[in-house]
Amino acid sequence: MSKMEQVAEKSESLILLHNAVIITLNPQLHVFRDGGIAVEGDIIKSIGQSHHILSQFSHLPHSQFIDLHGQFILPGLINTHVHTSQQLGRGIADDVDLVTWLHHRIWPYESNMTPNDSYISTLLCGIELIHSGVTCFAEAGGQHVPEMARAVQLLGLRACLTESIMDTGEGLPASWAIRTTDHCMQSQKELYSKYNNTADGRIRIWFGIRQIMNSTDRLLLETRDAAQELKTGIHMHIAEIDYENHVVKDTRKVNYGTVTYLKKMKLLQSNLLAAHTVWVNEKEIQMLSDAGTKVSHCPASAMRMLGFAPIKEMMDAKVCVSLGTDGAPSNNRMSIVDEMYLASLINKGREVYSKGATDPTALPAETVLQMATINGAKSVLWDNEIGSLEVGKKADMIVVNPFSWTMVPFHDCISSLVYCMRSENVISVMCNGRWIMKDRKILNVDEEKVISMARSASAELLKRARIHIPSKMNFV
Ligand SMILES: [Zn+2]
Repeated sequence: MSKMEQVAEKSESLILLHNAVIITLNPQLHVFRDGGIAVEGDIIKSIGQSHHILSQFSHLPHSQFIDLHGQFILPGLINTHVHTSQQLGRGIADDVDLVTWLHHRIWPYESNMTPNDSYISTLLCGIELIHSGVTCFAEAGGQHVPEMARAVQLLGLRACLTESIMDTGEGLPASWAIRTTDHCMQSQKELYSKYNNTADGRIRIWFGIRQIMNSTDRLLLETRDAAQELKTGIHMHIAEIDYENHVVKDTRKVNYGTVTYLKKMKLLQSNLLAAHTVWVNEKEIQMLSDAGTKVSHCPASAMRMLGFAPIKEMMDAKVCVSLGTDGAPSNNRMSIVDEMYLASLINKGREVYSKGATDPTALPAETVLQMATINGAKSVLWDNEIGSLEVGKKADMIVVNPFSWTMVPFHDCISSLVYCMRSENVISVMCNGRWIMKDRKILNVDEEKVISMARSASAELLKRARIHIPSKMNFV
């Protein structure tokens, strides 16, 4: 080991990044053209003009100086709806209808997962998340949470983990059909007591409700109360398809859909993260806003299976909307960078229905960037510590290299980040003050090894689940 490397290793506790364009996403939306940022331990100690930061700390021995030569620094991106368990199921449900997707692919797949499958699936998913600049994610509800937590701890990510919870429903796999409400609640409370606030505080445990069609009213109410008591969040798929609203009307004998029903159950609160929320009316949008309920918009997945979510209307009504990828069998790409681009395009195009023409001013770049950062932090109830680069917040940030054919030339760095950036432009990722990817190399796990484990685990799992994917062409 050279002398310089020794110094760098010792000085890990104070890192100074300088000569960078820093997009802070703070309340004033400050951008430093030639900025510097000092990180001590897991905290942002100082942020400002490069020369200020350098003069403030240059006298300190063992400081690690990194000249970024004009590259961009922004807060770590936050993916507020991702199914880590589904990563091994990428490609198992392309171009199929919704019933085939759920009953013949996803349920058999998830119900046949072993704990080790969950571990490998989360590692593989985490690698893709990190490459796309994500430092924090909200699990949508998956299998074998302890193994999920083990993978998150190793990867160095921050996450709100949630178990997949259903206590009723037709056509459920046999191993799930026997789960009682008590069992669902007990299991989640145990997970909370074992894993909440672990991995140096990077892991939090949330309650999950997969969707209203698979929940009894008792489950809804007990979840509401338990989350309130433990001061944590609830993650739930809400108003995904129009059929869901009809099922609520038929089974609950009411004349309204999911969102109104949840309001009457007093579940619509500020700790509820509503995924998708596509089939909502004007009144329900106002209900979401009044309650402070957060919405995770998953543009790719919505386009594939659900429909156009009224995102512009929600944002006009001051609903906090963030971005999610959904799972690999619904989207295939777990890149929040791609979702930023899609969110803007889809919501500009959707205006054709109300205005007769697309609206290029809908969801502008700065709004989309806020959705992927500070709104994400609010959605996971963590905005006091993450989502923007400010003194005293956790050091969760990414370095973007804009000097490549994907982004050059750039005149407005915010537009460039939303409309031009690809995952490949994200070169380094820091979470909780530690680098988890540097120069595009994932640091805490062996990427090649995970890919190899994932290929064999996925093949075995599909065999066990008897999932056959028919060929669409004549392979010879
Ligand atoms: Zn989902």
